[in-house]
Amino acid sequence: MENETLPSRHTLNPSFHKTKSKDRVPSRAISHNGSYNRSRVGINRVLSLLKKAGSFVRLGSASHSTVAASSFSSKTSSSDLASAVDDLKTKLCIIGSGPAAHTAAIYAARAELKPILFQGWMANDVAPGGQLTTTTVVENFPGFPEGIMGMELMERCRDQSLRFGTRIFTETVSSVDFSATPFKVLTDSRVVLADSVIVATGAVAKRLSFPGSGEGKDGFWNCGISTCAVCDGAAPIFRNKPLAVIGGGDTAMEEANFLTKYASEVFIIHRRDVFRASMAMQKLALSNPKIRVINNSVVVEAYGDGDKRVLGGLKIKNVVTEEVSDLKVSGLFFAIGHEPATKFLGGQLELDPDGYIVTKQGTTQTSVRGVFAAGDVQDKKYRQAVTAAGTGCMAALDAEHYLQGIGSLEGKSS
Ligand SMILES: Cc1cc2nc3c(=O)[nH]c(=O)nc-3n(C[C@H](O)[C@H](O)[C@H](O)COP(=O)(O)OP(=O)(O)OC[C@H]3O[C@@H](n4cnc5c(N)ncnc54)[C@H](O)[C@@H]3O)c2cc1C
Repeated sequence: MENETLPSRHTLNPSFHKTKSKDRVPSRAISHNGSYNRSRVGINRVLSLLKKAGSFVRLGSASHSTVAASSFSSKTSSSDLASAVDDLKTKLCIIGSGPAAHTAAIYAARAELKPILFQGWMANDVAPGGQLTTTTVVENFPGFPEGIMGMELMERCRDQSLRFGTRIFTETVSSVDFSATPFKVLTDSRVVLADSVIVATGAVAKRLSFPGSGEGKDGFWNCGISTCAVCDGAAPIFRNKPLAVIGGGDTAMEEANFLTKYASEVFIIHRRDVFRASMAMQKLALSNPKIRVINNSVVVEAYGDGDKRVLGGLKIKNVVTEEVSDLKVSGLFFAIGHEPATKFLGGQLELDPDGYIVTKQGTTQTSVRGVFAAGDVQDKKYRQAVTAAGTGCMAALDAEHYLQGIGSLEGKSS
């Protein structure tokens, strides 16, 4: 069975409001295969077909665009569906579909490990392709001097994985059994027996919900509201403008500090009067002349800048006095933490106190030999597409080395 979670509008049909580039991308529907201006009805139909048919996507060639939903309708045959009930054996199973998973798949497939990749079905409420499918222009991934849409970048990654023979399933992994080899990776419709596993399931930035915080015509998500200062802070709409950061931990301090490079001033809005951040981080942020703190306060509304589809300001409530005041800002960054996608592991890998997978320093090796982790699921510091891709490469090389060691590459194992 496939994950029954329905796709959220912003992930599968995002209206592109975010004004990262000078020229704003007009709001319009985007299909899951990245083709613009298709009707939402058509896309939803493909998605519903995909759900009904059991979600299997196995594509040997990537001669054209191959993101799951669009590919499915044209390329999945009845024999594919028949084989979907079979258990599978593989040298390497990759869980995830962001830059880490696909980089691992490209390396592993080129090394002829014939990896199986589970890209998830709205796992963690994120579409196949990962967090970059929720954004517009990515301007800091090397090789794209003009920038590239997040969705298109992930389609290209997926095409490259397929080109070398990765088998991709649009299913969410519900549990794993790492107690013995071969490892078991389970979805609602199959079990994969794998000599090695790479976990690259990412993390999701937490967001707050209040009027104006969402996407769509009444919200300013991607139109001034973001969860990533490093990704979005340099965008023209934030330059020399007052900005706000919500949070009280190290991330909030770091993001506020980072934003002072571009902003005229940065407000840290915190619901308490004591920060959770380390003293060192607090000192760094609070000694910055561009940073001001608004304590004991929560944002209750975000509103637009006149007729423009961008953030114009916030209504802020003091939780002690209950007084509501106005704060004119052009940007708001949530810095209230991330949630790594590790619950399905059932405690079988060592996690840190925040739920991130612990890897042996300088490698992608987890606490279980033969299981590797890459990308944001094991990285709470850098959290960038290029660092995720880098550790994806490391994980594939580590897995290949491990498989060589156990004789799997000589066919002694699966
Ligand atoms: C709005 C936004 C804008 C960003 N902009 C930039 C930017 O401009 N530049 C940049 O470098 N970085 C940017 N980032 C950060 C970047 O997207 C992440 O660092 C990167 O995507 C992490 O890649 P990943 O491979 O670790 O995982 P993710 O991209 O998080 O992908 C993980 C995937 O695994 C799937 N998954 C989860 N659980 C399961 C399961 N049990 N079974 C199967 N699949 C599962 C998820 O559904 C998801 O699709 C941005 C992030 C956000 C949220």
